Amino acid sequence: MNTHFHTLIVGGGLSGLVVAHKLRLRRPGLSFAVLEKSRRTGGVITTHRDKGYLSEIGPHGFLDNCAESRAILAETGLDQEVVSAPLKEFVRYVLLHDRLNLIPQTPGKIIRAPLIPWRAKLRVLAELWQPPLDGEPTVAKWVQHRFGPALLPYVDAVYTGTYAGDFDRLTIDSVMPGVRLLEKQYGSVLRGLFARLRARRKERGSGAALSMPAMTSFADGMTRLPEKLGEKLVEGHDLFLGTTVNHLARTSGGWRLDTDRGPFTAAHLVLATPINTALRLLGSFHDDLPLCQVDCAWLASVVLGFPDSVTLPPGFGYLAPEVEQRFALGALFTSNMFPGRAPAGHRVIEVLVGGRRHPERLELDDDTLAARALADVAAILHLPRRPAYCTVLRPEGGIPQLERHYPRLRRWRDSLLAGNHRLHLCGFGWDGIGINDMVKHACQVAEAIAGGADKDNASPEVKAIYF
Ligand SMILES: Cc1cc2nc3c(=O)[nH]c(=O)nc-3n(C[C@H](O)[C@H](O)[C@H](O)COP(=O)(O)OP(=O)(O)OC[C@H]3O[C@@H](n4cnc5c(N)ncnc54)[C@H](O)[C@@H]3O)c2cc1C
Repeated sequence: MNTHFHTLIVGGGLSGLVVAHKLRLRRPGLSFAVLEKSRRTGGVITTHRDKGYLSEIGPHGFLDNCAESRAILAETGLDQEVVSAPLKEFVRYVLLHDRLNLIPQTPGKIIRAPLIPWRAKLRVLAELWQPPLDGEPTVAKWVQHRFGPALLPYVDAVYTGTYAGDFDRLTIDSVMPGVRLLEKQYGSVLRGLFARLRARRKERGSGAALSMPAMTSFADGMTRLPEKLGEKLVEGHDLFLGTTVNHLARTSGGWRLDTDRGPFTAAHLVLATPINTALRLLGSFHDDLPLCQVDCAWLASVVLGFPDSVTLPPGFGYLAPEVEQRFALGALFTSNMFPGRAPAGHRVIEVLVGGRRHPERLELDDDTLAARALADVAAILHLPRRPAYCTVLRPEGGIPQLERHYPRLRRWRDSLLAGNHRLHLCGFGWDGIGINDMVKHACQVAEAIAGGADKDNASPEVKAIYF
């Protein structure tokens, strides 16, 4: 068995598979291998199929507004299998005072909607004159300072929906570095956004409408993504499943990795594992780690099937901010979003429980957890108390929380990489947490190895918030 390669990629989740896929395209002759702890690739991406129901244990989809992800779909032929739900047509709701409040998707409609009183809307506009907030504020503190308190439940819902997080702990510099930069450059986020909008309109022509992205998945579920990306990898040749990397050491020629299948060596090393595994492995040869572990938010999802006669509100689903004190974080109206997720004559919803604030709820046994989740959503959505189908799914991975000390960790990472040109880091929690973030950074890593391009460090992106 060959154990020496030009590049070793640790982790066969989405990040590692994208690096491998891009290396194969960019430098066909280059020898590389993916070392993966589990007996399958894909990491946290896992589609669950049971009795005609198709649900996701990990991610449900990703927005089609990332050029790198669109390129991956075209290169793998997955663009032929895409199912998509345009945000323009699929609204979301925020639960407030026990009622679902529809969130329009365009800024103009949001301003006109009666979501907050006019007085509070004026306070939002006063952001234009609010001085930047120093230090490393939490998202909640920063939003309150810039826009006033009325937006807090809505922003809480956004970070519940993306990070399953607690906006009193997530820091704005970590989760929205691009927006924070606008605040610093223009003295106001709104002023910065207007300037960017004007520039984009000028670029595209003044009449051009700014388009809305669509939520994307595949007819057979999200596992199609790692399946297709890993299709050309051959076990024992360039893929080693059931191979845990336990220790790293630098050598004169690059790297030596100790695994439970023996040592592997390479010139270039890519750590494409979740951030906490990477930190543990980097601890093998670095004793100045600024943080040994990043906290994670854990989730469970309760999949509930009902006969077609049960109606759901139109749209993606709803999120419940913490002030509502509900058992569930929210629910996805899966059958509304993608076709073929329930057997004929049925529809399915997925209810999310736990998150950063309520890990204790995940200690409940499946029956209790499902009964409490059902009671919670049934009251909001007027559902029958006896579903046609019910199962509890518990993802194996938690979602890394970008909280205090995280910017310091990233600065440490950047200086580590600057001094180690043959070390590359991507993966869950290093530069964001979403699928598009992972794909983008994995592509940059592959490019740096294949083309010798400079390592990443483009200026932070200003991401739009979509409910
Ligand atoms: C519950 C949940 C819901 C999510 N929902 C969404 C969503 O709707 N939209 C979205 O955009 N994103 C979502 N995400 C995030 C998205 O799933 C991740 O960004 C992405 O899948 C991470 O891929 P990765 O390869 O970086 O990490 P992982 O998927 O964690 O893969 C890392 C791989 O490394 C392997 N590994 C770990 N340690 C070792 C070792 N020592 N040696 C060898 N191999 C090792 C693991 O076995 C794993 O296969 C969700 C995540 C979770 C957990």
